[in-house]
Amino acid sequence: MPAEAADSHDVIQVRGARENNLADISLDVPKRRLTVFTGVSGSGKSSLVFGTIAAESQRLINETYSAFLQSFMGSPSRPDVDALHNLSAAIVVDQERMGANSRSTLGTATDAYTMLRIIFSRIGVPSAGSALAYSFNAEGMCPACEGLGKVSAIDVEGLVDRDRSINQGAIMVPNFSVDGWYVKGFAECGLFDPDKPLRDYTEQEWADFLYKPATKVKINGINTSYEGLVVKVQRMYLSKERESAQPHIRAFIDRVATFTACKECGGTRLKPSVLESRIAGRNIAECSAMQVSDLAAFLDEISAPSVGPVLANLRGTLDSLVEIGLGYLSLDRESATLSGGEAQRVKMVRHLGSSLTDITYVFDEPTVGLHPHDIQRMNTLLLRLKDKGNTVLVVEHKPETIAIADHVVDLGPGAGPDGGHLQFQGTVTELRASGTLTGRYLDHKVSLKPQFRERTGVLEIRGASLHNLQHVDVDLPLGVLTVVTGVAGSGKSSLLYGSLEHRAGVQVVDQSAIRGSRRSNPATYTGLLDPVRAAFAKANGVKPALFSANSEGACPNCKGIGLAYVDLAMMAGVASVCEQCEGKRFTPQVLEYRLRGRDISEVLGMPVTAAREFFTEKTEKAARTILDRLDGVGLGYLTLGQPLTTLSGGERQRLKLAIRMAEGPTTYLLDEPTTGLHLADVDKLLALLDRLVDAGNTVIVIEHHQAVMAHADWIVDLGPGAGHDGGRVVFTGTPAALVGAGDTLTARHLREYVA
Ligand code: ADP
Ligand code: ADP
Ligand code: ZN
Ligand code: ZN
Repeated sequence: MPAEAADSHDVIQVRGARENNLADISLDVPKRRLTVFTGVSGSGKSSLVFGTIAAESQRLINETYSAFLQSFMGSPSRPDVDALHNLSAAIVVDQERMGANSRSTLGTATDAYTMLRIIFSRIGVPSAGSALAYSFNAEGMCPACEGLGKVSAIDVEGLVDRDRSINQGAIMVPNFSVDGWYVKGFAECGLFDPDKPLRDYTEQEWADFLYKPATKVKINGINTSYEGLVVKVQRMYLSKERESAQPHIRAFIDRVATFTACKECGGTRLKPSVLESRIAGRNIAECSAMQVSDLAAFLDEISAPSVGPVLANLRGTLDSLVEIGLGYLSLDRESATLSGGEAQRVKMVRHLGSSLTDITYVFDEPTVGLHPHDIQRMNTLLLRLKDKGNTVLVVEHKPETIAIADHVVDLGPGAGPDGGHLQFQGTVTELRASGTLTGRYLDHKVSLKPQFRERTGVLEIRGASLHNLQHVDVDLPLGVLTVVTGVAGSGKSSLLYGSLEHRAGVQVVDQSAIRGSRRSNPATYTGLLDPVRAAFAKANGVKPALFSANSEGACPNCKGIGLAYVDLAMMAGVASVCEQCEGKRFTPQVLEYRLRGRDISEVLGMPVTAAREFFTEKTEKAARTILDRLDGVGLGYLTLGQPLTTLSGGERQRLKLAIRMAEGPTTYLLDEPTTGLHLADVDKLLALLDRLVDAGNTVIVIEHHQAVMAHADWIVDLGPGAGHDGGRVVFTGTPAALVGAGDTLTARHLREYVA
């Protein structure tokens, strides 16, 4: 075999990649190595790693399914690339929150609980039975709450309008329309006068209306059953998983139901016989409620040869959790309450335990949410995945993680149309010498500000004790930039969200999904579309509404989305470009109307920076103001019509910030705004935060990025550790004071970072 052919198996060959802004690039990515992809945000990293390599790998796997399954899956389009060779199966370890099912806990998601069950079934005294006997999703479930650990109470006022009668629509429950079957059951069961307002009901009528257990009744001669409204709502909507419900039902549940711990099992989800079974004095619920690091220590004390291998396996999983910086979590923690970064790390632990090899693992910023102290441990695990014979591809900005790469691929030079080129590929040493923006920033140090702003007042927090907080008293200064620091799990979110979220004048700008339809994009979300439509209408002498994606001007096939979606029960939805309008979203007639030579679809295809140069007329000032704000938050590369569903968490946060900036002096609470930002972009973010503060706002950010810490006027450091080892304020003061005399983990890391 020629040498070249043998070598080619050791690399993933990418030839002629053009997805999104990629400029027809070709490169080889070494297999069974750790490759980090760098470049400013919008340069094309995701388009290459997720949109091309991972997407094609998953598409090829889909092709191996039967024609029947494939017919449901539509044809996700092949990425725009000439050729890809030597792909292996790709697993994307992203920051999507974990399956929001309340029966899923950290323990079940990592299989640690399964192993614990096996150990209890073998050596627990008295034994409750086989393993399944200890499962809250099976035999072991508490009968009162069916293993949910909580019971629901319904706010009756949220179900009805007492001023109306049944026939006037008194019942305000989803799927209960006045002429529908459910309401008919109430109106015609013979128990009530359907025209009497509920507030005039007798006590008996009211009790029957709400709570009567299922009873046989005849309606129009048909035998059927009647049950009270609360009973019915409990059965229809609350005994099922909230998360599997449709969004409007979920909103309804959130509005009317409150959940409290089940009294029978004390929230442990388990039945009494299971709770009696103990090992070294503890039952399985107590073990699950312990912090993982404590559980590991507890298990060390147990020596039972009969469960040796399971015990070793469980220890392995727990050790991985501790190493990855999640030792402060407990196995009974609901997966749905984990942050995006925590969820990503849990998924990583799951893969570390997997016996699959030769997988391509793809990570999106695995260091999000991690203190510099935690990043070292994350690096260890990335290397361990590689050492198991896998190919590890990481999109990352943090120098500490770039430093451990075997290979670096740098995209740029700029964002959007100014990016998409291969700037550099090679080792970290070569990157340092390359003269690229990334190379130059790699050993970047900052100097502390010579002066810090003076506070104009304080926001007092007294006695904060949510989660692990140990009765925290702290004053957050107003009128300055405050950075809240501390290792993951130290209590930063608990302190700020728990104490400030509902205070008047505090704006939380987080990374959560933006509600709205698939038709939403930066233009609709920011209100930019209004002046844009007005400009088109004026230039063509037609109605502005024609240029709206939910009007008659929209493509009838995709309803103005530009994509056709196939939703699947068993798999994630698949989108492909609408065949009728070819992704242009509007009817051919509408596309004939032009503004200075461009049609509406072309304008929606412009990045913010290009649009700023296009809308320069005096009458288009409103559009320019919005575009300036978008550019100001570092989203100049974003296309006006890009679906919001395709934005990353960091991009969403900056988009929200762009809108809220218009709303006047306030206190902004930001959670890791550097997410997704290249080291060079961080400078721009700092300039933006400075502008906000100088305009009279207060800015409080949770951050791990040392450049942001160094730039703060005031630092509040939580710790000293995570979970029960954290929850206290360990330092408050200026960054200069922290670097000078601070003795916390944050102080140590910041000291190394400042020049
Ligand atoms: P990075 O990962 O480096 O931040 P991306 O690959 O996400 O960059 O983006 C590269 C360019 O492609 C940007 O201009 C971005 O706006 C654009 N882009 C990304 N995803 C989409 C999409 N789904 N539709 C249209 N444009 C997109
Ligand atoms: P940080 O923001 O510093 O990473 P958090 O405030 O998220 O820290 O977490 C502090 C502690 O509170 C941790 O022990 C964490 O497990 C716990 N915690 C956070 N959110 C929840 C929740 N929804 N339910 C139970 N415990 C939680
Ligand atoms: Zn219970
Ligand atoms: Zn269409």
